[in-house]
Amino acid sequence: MIQEDELKTFYQKRDELSVEEGVLLWGYRIVVPTKLRKMLLDELHKVHLGIVKMKSMARSYFWWPCLDNDIETLGKKCELCIQQRPERSDPVSPWRLTSAPGDRVHVDHFSFRGSDFFVMIDSYSKWIEAFPVRTLTSKETIEKLCEYISRFGSISTLVSDNGTAFTSDEFQNFCKSRGINHLRTAPYSPCSNGAAENAVKTVKTALKKLSNDPAFQKKSTSIMISSFLEMYRASKHATTAESPFKLMFGREMRLRFDTLKFDATRRQDDTIQKVNNRKKQETFAVGETVYVRDYRNPKKASWIRGKILKKLGAVLFECSSEELGTIKRRSHQILKYPYDDYEEDRRISNGHCNGNNNDDADSDASYVSLEDDVEDNPTNQPNGAYVTRYNRVVRPPRR
Ligand SMILES: [Zn+2]
Repeated sequence: MIQEDELKTFYQKRDELSVEEGVLLWGYRIVVPTKLRKMLLDELHKVHLGIVKMKSMARSYFWWPCLDNDIETLGKKCELCIQQRPERSDPVSPWRLTSAPGDRVHVDHFSFRGSDFFVMIDSYSKWIEAFPVRTLTSKETIEKLCEYISRFGSISTLVSDNGTAFTSDEFQNFCKSRGINHLRTAPYSPCSNGAAENAVKTVKTALKKLSNDPAFQKKSTSIMISSFLEMYRASKHATTAESPFKLMFGREMRLRFDTLKFDATRRQDDTIQKVNNRKKQETFAVGETVYVRDYRNPKKASWIRGKILKKLGAVLFECSSEELGTIKRRSHQILKYPYDDYEEDRRISNGHCNGNNNDDADSDASYVSLEDDVEDNPTNQPNGAYVTRYNRVVRPPRR
């Protein structure tokens, strides 16, 4: 049953909602039906991410009325999260700011229920690694550092405490040979290795929650760590406002939630196949001048001049227009500029020509829009075209 409040929210957003092959969208976000919401909430909180991280992750994919409330309730009611709730955040460390991955990496060891781990955190991206290790020796520490460097490149400054793994000649020689500036922090000094200590705390807290979570009961520690790190690296970090993955690789991580997008795209592709030659799939180049759908006037959506800024997906584009600023539009909400004979070709090849021309002086100029069944009726077209009360889009004769 849809609640009245929920209906009201939909009504308020009615001009920003669209249907694409049976999938309801609010802007670029999929509107999730009631019975699937719990499943998505469970996936969001699978590794017990905090409320802020869950909200920003959901924002990239889906929406329903009261989604933020549902996320808050989920986070606040989770027993495992409450048990491991930190007391307060640590003071900001006095280290200088970094400007690229590898500028400064903090490392430390920790143990959890009899297993040892080597933890690394990149100061710039907040990327965390937690390698299970058999020993705390310099040899194995160097092995893990080499593994890290092979993936992400070399490290300029490495910060550790005075653990024996880091003070040995073997370790000093390794750093020297790799051109790594190794700094060791004195215990209790203001320039402490707080970043590594926080990373340890983050991983340890996650391990405590997951090892008490029935869903992870039969899973190995290795699966717990990778499940947590996957979501941690994909979600926005509070201090950088970006995900560690984005700062490391320059793009967002593909997540399980992306299958939502894929399904919608694939379904659309299937339908395009069915419509086969009737419609050429439009592609738009970055920088191309186009017309984009303008929904500012609820009763009279129109087309205005814009530009393609970025291709975000198979059918999703970031566009800009003088009046609307930066907006996201799907390909059916974008038209080629100049508006050419493409529409005309479509009319001829799909045989949708309407013979009844009582309303129109020029029968050649009238046709039924193919878009009518998947999109809101276009009520205002470029080049002075308009829609008749029988839903026909009429364009003035070309001279
Ligand atoms: Zn939780």
